[in-house]
Amino acid sequence: MTDGPTYGFDTLQVHAGARPDPATGARQVPIYQTTAYVFRDADHAAALFNLQEVGYIYSRLTNPTVAALQERIATLEGGVGGVCCSSGHAAQIMALFPLMEPGRNIIASTRLYGGTITQFSQTIKRFGWSAKFVDFDDLDAVKAAIDDDTRAVFCEAIANPGGHITDLDAISAISDAAGIPLIVDNTSATPYLCRPIEHGATLVVHSTTKYLTGNGTVTGGCVVDSGKFDWAANDKFPSLSQPEPAYHGMKFAETFGPLAFTFHGIAIGLRDLGMTMNPQAAHYTLMGIETLSLRMDRHVENAVKVATWLENDPRVDYVTYAGLASSPYNKLVAKICPKGAGGLFTIAVKGGYDSCVKLVDSLEIFSHVANLGDTRSLIIHSASTTHRQLTAAQQEAAGAGPGIVRLSIGIEDADDLIADLDQALAKATA
Ligand SMILES: *Cc1c(COP(=O)(O)O)cnc(C)c1O
Repeated sequence: MTDGPTYGFDTLQVHAGARPDPATGARQVPIYQTTAYVFRDADHAAALFNLQEVGYIYSRLTNPTVAALQERIATLEGGVGGVCCSSGHAAQIMALFPLMEPGRNIIASTRLYGGTITQFSQTIKRFGWSAKFVDFDDLDAVKAAIDDDTRAVFCEAIANPGGHITDLDAISAISDAAGIPLIVDNTSATPYLCRPIEHGATLVVHSTTKYLTGNGTVTGGCVVDSGKFDWAANDKFPSLSQPEPAYHGMKFAETFGPLAFTFHGIAIGLRDLGMTMNPQAAHYTLMGIETLSLRMDRHVENAVKVATWLENDPRVDYVTYAGLASSPYNKLVAKICPKGAGGLFTIAVKGGYDSCVKLVDSLEIFSHVANLGDTRSLIIHSASTTHRQLTAAQQEAAGAGPGIVRLSIGIEDADDLIADLDQALAKATA
């Protein structure tokens, strides 16, 4: 699609990043199943390697199918560039990599996907990085946690598993004042429900595995750059602002301006870490993204119906869905995600751990899987699965205690989902 008028979201989710294939006219983005690309001549090859000309060299770095998806996600998020990766977890490392050095830390919300809590509390220590976990509802605590070694603030827009909403405007005011970037994981909200860059986010990361692909077929991730952060404003980000020895002394911020982070992500991140998305995965995600807004509207509509029914059921102690008027996060919906609070929430079942396990085993439409954002309705008992590696205190802080199950509401008939929950709750609490 050429730069034209400002198109609406529904038009962009179908067209952004894609154009009829220049070689064949193919209307759908072809799967460019190739490792390498023939250089026109030696000068062309040298220009590509020097980043003087943009083009394709080798599919660890760039691939036309993946490039179409990168451009589409970046456009939907309102960013200047995107880098797709092999998974959501890869995207998180790719987002931090240009910012971090041994001894540096990040400030992370306590309410994150369980795998992210483990990645940040354990695995990144091996790089010499660390994370300080803070309750992001407590703005003073976020401010107080930032020190001279802090290089990023990290949270989820709509937090997995509880569907809690983060006040991104308040958090970005704090990170801006400290001169550090805010990274927002927008997996659970998607750019249809929330556009973190409009609330001050510097970088947006996605697990494209979830709603963006939408049908549970492939894993993938993406880092989108707002292009708004001045990496050279202070000396905190030398890999972007100073001569980078891993790219023969290139100064990314000076050379690429607002695209510095994106070029760094490809030329150094993908080149040296190799967390590349393959063109097949990009194809499935491009297919999925075409219907994102239609699916999200139905996910939200169904989640409201199911959460309302559950809230009024005596076998359920509480429901965390921010779309309910009873939720303390309900007032943030209009500000952060005006089209709805998503399709993800937790419920506390009377009878605790044993009832949760029985509920999961008794459902017929809901699938018991470690995934979310599928067209199908899904359920998981977080404490025994996704949040299993966490301590009891971490589980409670993340909203994933032993008496809680997480629901990812699909796009089926809401009445069927409610009937399924009704019969399973009867067995679980008998
Ligand atoms: C699933 C998920 C991730 C990790 O993504 P993968 O594609 O599984 O690596 C990160 N953040 C959130 C919010 C998720 O739901």
